[in-house]
Amino acid sequence: GRKFFVGGNWKCNGTADQVDKIVKILNEGQVPSPDVVEVVVSPPYVFLPVVKSQLRSEFHVAAQNCWVKKGGAFTGEVSAEMLVNLGIPWVILGHSERRSLLGESSEFVGDKVAYALSQGLKVIACVGETLEQRESGSTMDVVSAQTKAIAERIKDWTNVVIAYEPVWAIGTGKVATPAQAQDVHAFLRDWLKTNVSPEVAESTRIIYGGSVTAANSKELAGQTDVDGFLVGGASLKPEFIDIISSAT
Ligand code: 13P
Repeated sequence: GRKFFVGGNWKCNGTADQVDKIVKILNEGQVPSPDVVEVVVSPPYVFLPVVKSQLRSEFHVAAQNCWVKKGGAFTGEVSAEMLVNLGIPWVILGHSERRSLLGESSEFVGDKVAYALSQGLKVIACVGETLEQRESGSTMDVVSAQTKAIAERIKDWTNVVIAYEPVWAIGTGKVATPAQAQDVHAFLRDWLKTNVSPEVAESTRIIYGGSVTAANSKELAGQTDVDGFLVGGASLKPEFIDIISSAT
């Protein structure tokens, strides 16, 4: 089976003091065993070393982005090689905030995923439609095109988790209903089955993100094709522990 996966995306938040507090909450929280749930938190780059060194050993860390190819004269960027060098196992790529605010195209995200995997990173690859796209009935076209841009560039899906994050649900308090999430997750799994392989479809975790809270995580987690969460706002709060516990 697919092991439940809970990611905490801190986005561009936190002071050193706040980071200490969050790490303390994570380290003291009662959570299911790592055999049951994989937990990965993603602080801003500058906090990655301190969080990695202080966090309980069964939780792992992710960068929120990385450069598309080998490092060099790319001011302001951080390369996949640097993350590997520091022992950072995971990276989030293609988050909707980077697609919409930083202009990352699906092709660029696909290139990043392929390069990060080639360097040995594990990737949380994000897809999702805007409200306008949902209302015009193009949700499945959008998420399949975003997934296709990745599928065309990689062969091995072992180290990939797909995060379905509808843009209209991110930071809005408007969580997708369990049925809405399940519909898209089942569609994506079927897309993988047809376009990649039945084995990859069966084994790849597809996690949901967008206004996940302790109040809605249990019901979402009960959906057949929801294999976990990518949590934003609530990952900075004690309720993240309860969201992790919705794995059981
Ligand atoms: P919120 O949980 O704050 O809606 O953010 C979701 C998200 O974008 C996680 O990557």
